[in-house]
Amino acid sequence: MIIKPRIRGFICTTAHPLGCAANVDAQIAYVAGQEEIADGPKRVLVLGASGGYGLASRIVAAFGCGAATLGVSFEKPPGDGRTATAGWYNNHAFQARATAKGLYSKTLDGDAFSDELKQQVVEAIAADLGQIDLLVYSLASPVRQHPRTGELHRSVIKPLGETFHVKTLNVAKGVVHEVDLEPADEAETEATVAVMGGEDWEYWIDALAEAGVLADGFRTVSYTYIGSELTWPIYWRATLGKAKEDLDRAAAAISARLGEVDGDAKVAVLKAVVTQASAAIPVVPLYNTLLFAVMKEQGSHEDCIDHVYRLFASGLYGASPEIDDVGRLRLDDWELAPGVQEEVLRRWAVVRTENLDELGDLEGFRADFLRLFGFGMAGVDYAADLDPTSSDL
Ligand code: NAD
Repeated sequence: MIIKPRIRGFICTTAHPLGCAANVDAQIAYVAGQEEIADGPKRVLVLGASGGYGLASRIVAAFGCGAATLGVSFEKPPGDGRTATAGWYNNHAFQARATAKGLYSKTLDGDAFSDELKQQVVEAIAADLGQIDLLVYSLASPVRQHPRTGELHRSVIKPLGETFHVKTLNVAKGVVHEVDLEPADEAETEATVAVMGGEDWEYWIDALAEAGVLADGFRTVSYTYIGSELTWPIYWRATLGKAKEDLDRAAAAISARLGEVDGDAKVAVLKAVVTQASAAIPVVPLYNTLLFAVMKEQGSHEDCIDHVYRLFASGLYGASPEIDDVGRLRLDDWELAPGVQEEVLRRWAVVRTENLDELGDLEGFRADFLRLFGFGMAGVDYAADLDPTSSDL
């Protein structure tokens, strides 16, 4: 089968196995070109390991710190003339590269919110690694079936309080237009906190601590986004922000509970990048298009992998991490630098379809999006007839 991108809204329903492998290789090559992270973790569990920030975290842990990694994701294998999801191919490519380097790696695909999957992970750690030094919590999901109540919670991406009238971008058409985003009600806000808030992170720590698989000095980090005032009404001061605020509560509770292993829990504030999760948030693609243009012009642009390398090298395992007054690790300082934000704000006020190419980096945004699914990678023969079920990557 000749695999081409098939884009539906903000998702691509096909993925290219060799392109996904090339994307994993490019990230490994980036890390291989950096200094090894001294005192990095050696046994790492990554939840949400198959794409975006989680995949980058797994690659930095393995190839930047020499860690054995256990990954958890929710990906679909290929079948019936369908390609697998991109994350499935990413996982296979990662596994092959880690094994070739002599690094332990195992991936469990399933629902990370369930008690069953937590139990499987505990058993895998106990059998293969003994204990873990780091847990990276990088799940992004629109739904969570609560393991205790059975209730299916669905998150919403909506403002709070009042309708938000704002510019946004139709990425496929390259058209800037205005939309009204209706506010969430209380039940929708609570559901979003139930899906993307800190409770599941706490449940993971409970399960791992009770099984005695947390090493002395164990650390855990969960990722958040704050961003600029342009996106606050749909992110930080909206339903997603409420869920992310709950991570701050959970980090404090987890840190207190980790006293017996001298452990620590932190929320890390990361920059905006193109991932499957972020592409679905209204307003963010237009903001990213302008932001990437400005950061590239100013020489401070980072992709997932460079950003996560900086998180590990200077934040999590660095000598002088930047911590804010809430105790969060701040890696969004380059995005929020006044010189960057003032210029993004200036462009935001005047951007329209006609001047988008001049003010923004739509081409870069689209290329990042296609790369998530393994398309547009240099050196890959996209005209080749492939078997999408082959795991020979
Ligand atoms: P992503 O969509 O690229 O990855 C999500 C991961 O979660 C995938 O590995 C997926 O398989 C996994 N997953 C989803 N539901 C699951 C389930 N039920 N069980 C097991 N695995 C499941 O997302 P991302 O953008 O990398 O987001 C990761 C974290 O980073 C999120 O907390 C997000 O808020 C945060 N973050 C993202 C950005 C950004 O711009 N993308 C910025 C700052 C922080």
